[in-house]
Amino acid sequence: MAARPKALFPLFAEVTALKGVGPRLGKAIARLAGPRVVDLLWHLPTGLIDRRFSPKVAAAPSGRIATITVTVEAHLPPPNPRLPYKVRCADETGILHLVFFHAHKDYLNKALPVGAERAVSGRVERFGAEIQMVHPDHIAPIEELASLQTLEPVYALTEGLTLKPLAKAVSAALARAPELDEWIDPAFLEKQRWSGWRDSLASVHAPDGESALDPAHRDRMRLAYDELLANQLALALIRGRHKRAAGRSLRGDERLRNRVANALPYRLTASQQRAIGEIIEDMAGPSRMLRLLQGDVGSGKTVVALYAMLAAIEAGTQAALMAPTEILARQHHAVLAPLAEAAGVRVGLLTGRDKGKAREAVLAGLASGDIAIAVGTHALFQKGVTFRDLGLAVIDEQHRFGVHQRLMFGQKSDRADMLVMTATPIPRTLMLTAYGDMDDSRLTEKPAGRRPIDTRTMPLARLDEVVAAVSRAIDASAKVYWVCPLVEESEAVDLAAAKVRHAELRTRFGERVGLVHGRMKGADKDAVMAAFADGPVDVLVATTVIEVGIDVAEATVMVIEHAERFGLAQLHQLRGRIGRGERPSTCLLLYAPPLGETARARLNILRETDDGFRIAEEDLRLRGAGELLGTRQSGLPDFRLADLAVHGELLAAARDDARLILSRDPMLADRRGAALRTLLYLFERDVAVTYLRSG
Ligand code: ADP
Ligand code: MG
Repeated sequence: MAARPKALFPLFAEVTALKGVGPRLGKAIARLAGPRVVDLLWHLPTGLIDRRFSPKVAAAPSGRIATITVTVEAHLPPPNPRLPYKVRCADETGILHLVFFHAHKDYLNKALPVGAERAVSGRVERFGAEIQMVHPDHIAPIEELASLQTLEPVYALTEGLTLKPLAKAVSAALARAPELDEWIDPAFLEKQRWSGWRDSLASVHAPDGESALDPAHRDRMRLAYDELLANQLALALIRGRHKRAAGRSLRGDERLRNRVANALPYRLTASQQRAIGEIIEDMAGPSRMLRLLQGDVGSGKTVVALYAMLAAIEAGTQAALMAPTEILARQHHAVLAPLAEAAGVRVGLLTGRDKGKAREAVLAGLASGDIAIAVGTHALFQKGVTFRDLGLAVIDEQHRFGVHQRLMFGQKSDRADMLVMTATPIPRTLMLTAYGDMDDSRLTEKPAGRRPIDTRTMPLARLDEVVAAVSRAIDASAKVYWVCPLVEESEAVDLAAAKVRHAELRTRFGERVGLVHGRMKGADKDAVMAAFADGPVDVLVATTVIEVGIDVAEATVMVIEHAERFGLAQLHQLRGRIGRGERPSTCLLLYAPPLGETARARLNILRETDDGFRIAEEDLRLRGAGELLGTRQSGLPDFRLADLAVHGELLAAARDDARLILSRDPMLADRRGAALRTLLYLFERDVAVTYLRSG
């Protein structure tokens, strides 16, 4: 078992362990930054307020933040409650009115007793002749003046959370940050002129000027490097273990592949042939394969995987294909079983839902080797599943698995070659962060006969026209996907929206409309999907939590509501569900105006191109810091401190450093090694640490 170092315990406590953070505040913080103390450390300031400016009242310019020393002269309660409560203060140059709406009288009398001297800080406004400060940010006794005259960090906020309590919580979190042994190479540290971890963290949260907010600032660079180093070191450990495991050469005789080629209703594209060639060659090599197969939605990765699996079987071993969801596993099974069986190869299906006798039979078949190909969900890799001899493991990632599942998979199939399929091409830089140095094959062309998809954008207000178009389409026997967005924060609300849409479309189209969403039971989902694939349902209303990855050739229309809320890669993936058959397809992206600049650019790119590789690059380019949503949904690592647009060079350095570290001290056993283990825990790469032990 991996054990987190004691020194880090205070950081992995819940935020409510901090003084002044109760359950309500804790919830808001969890929503904004994360549930634990460490998440607050990673919540870096986005701006600052300069409170060092301390003019006399008469000299205070309107609109500027100032910290002013005044004497309280009188309280002026309003003649009626709709007017503000004022407190008249003054210094020797003039009168300053402090203005409060919805005032709490008792509080104000206590904070501002008549005759007392007070330091107040806030934005100064002039109303005619009157100098005002509306709701001062700080009111403090004069002894605390110096502690007010500082640069105050500003943080991104969320509903129910204001700056003051958040800043307090961050300070409390910082106070818990321990001194840790340095994990960065001393020579590199010096060359970069970086400070230690704790000092860098403290100064990032206490910016001494605008430049301290720049991601290229020294202290921010240091923290970004820490995160990237943890990422690259973890990946290097995983990869190292993978490569260390005795590889073997799997060389087939093409016997099964030739039979399947005869049964295939189409010819492989040149791209598919090249990818198959690369994979087969890699499998035949002496070391263990770890390869990525990248190809757009619909580029035909499944058949490439099938050929690789057949080669493994020709060489006397078994193969497994793991899909991210139940539905996709079943679909893969339905596609692969008849093809493989044409070559006399048995395919078994194993998901969490397969129980009882059927399950027992599959387990027995895998153990004896009678079943040569296993298709399933992660249930394939639970305890009690044994293969006679697994030679190749394929993961159809579709961007749904995190690193965690990849690791589980790696542990199960100790010697097996591994092929990971991803549906959305990944830009080079991101590939490094998600997979480390991994070989890849790319499917760059679409199977012949594909018609380009006509993509259009429309404001939601034109829904009537959309419904009319859907009506014409289904009368011409097309099938229609209707996607309603789901925003993490309020699944219930969005589900309600999908239900409403479903009900509305039902009044128009009756039983021809189905609904599928993430909270449905597996069997119910399958039933709706089946009714859509070849049954009475022509319009499938879906929330995005479900994988609409099923392959329905008649589906030629895709409507996406609130397309502006989706990431580019996600829209591209969804759109890939249509345009699979011979008939022309249409994708309607409905948006709620006004569109922001980024959203507009995103929708334009989709109209312009269908090339997933280009879309992936544009996605990275457009993805500002505020748009982490896209990252999260894509399954790529979601960096808290590093911004690849700025820290790309640090990433390369971290990769080289990780390599060097492991070549010198593969078990992270020396003093720096111990510090590096702590780093891995700090960034929650715990699983990678366990690899050190099982070596
Ligand atoms: P993806 O890469 O998204 O997994 P699939 O493997 O599901 O794509 O393939 C999409 C569709 O294209 C399937 O219906 C498949 O049968 C078909 N297909 C695959 N390769 C070819 C080809 N070379 N020519 C024609 N159709 C193909
Ligand atoms: Mg696929």
